[in-house]
Amino acid sequence: MQPYHKKLPPNAQCYHTRPNPFKKKTKKNMKKCISKSNSIKVIRELKQLLECKICYNTMTSQIFQCKTGHIICETCKEQCQSCPFCKQNIDTRSILLENILGNFTVKCPHNNCNTKCKYGQMKQHTQICKYKPLCCPFCNNKVSSDKIKEHLKDKHKAIIEENIEENKWYYKNLTCTLLQYDTDLTWRPHIFVSQYYYFIVQVHITKNMLSMKINYISQEENQPTCSVKMIGQSYACHASFKARSTWDTCLTASKNKLVKYRNDNKDPYFTIGFTLHT
Ligand SMILES: [Zn+2]
Ligand SMILES: [Zn+2]
Ligand SMILES: [Zn+2]
Ligand SMILES: [Zn+2]
Repeated sequence: MQPYHKKLPPNAQCYHTRPNPFKKKTKKNMKKCISKSNSIKVIRELKQLLECKICYNTMTSQIFQCKTGHIICETCKEQCQSCPFCKQNIDTRSILLENILGNFTVKCPHNNCNTKCKYGQMKQHTQICKYKPLCCPFCNNKVSSDKIKEHLKDKHKAIIEENIEENKWYYKNLTCTLLQYDTDLTWRPHIFVSQYYYFIVQVHITKNMLSMKINYISQEENQPTCSVKMIGQSYACHASFKARSTWDTCLTASKNKLVKYRNDNKDPYFTIGFTLHT
């Protein structure tokens, strides 16, 4: 069989060697459309594209677009099943825009953070940014990580135990007046703060049972392992588990077993314990 090119007519030219009739024109057109006065306008418009039209935050990582061309940021894309503007599928990456915007310096989208870096490096920064908003497990509001401690203290009356060390037990006595003892009751939350985590422990009495719930907030993705205890007069219970960032009931016990009575007629009490494992 003869090679394919031998079948071509003698005066035909290969696509690669054929002169491109648009080449000169394109160069001229490009010069026209990005003239010096225009380029300032073009850059201004590109900068506007850096802002997500849904959350109004700066685009910091992958950019997605729908078939119509609406552009949204990665965070909004995770929360939307389809384009919020036209309901089309929104699974296409806008690589061209990502490459163009890659040369811009952008500001961290978190409130109060003044960090600026190249667009492509911003995602790395936002993950460790100390102003990253964390979700409060009591009110579900987003609170900047540098303000979360004050928020828990002021808004949710939390008692904070700071700088807890790993593998060391921390104990708290919870008193219950006789009046409260006969009703459903939730104690003020206790927060155990380690270098990377806020563990939130809350104890309730429901139907003669004491239950201990735990939740944590953190920028870390690794699930921490911890142990808790409830200690009574002649009874103690204990649990070790991988904490989850949702409210989990980790211990329950009968209140009759757990409550300690004092000889001096003071309010009865019981003890809770918490430790974080390495
Ligand atoms: Zn967005
Ligand atoms: Zn759309
Ligand atoms: Zn930041
Ligand atoms: Zn809150």
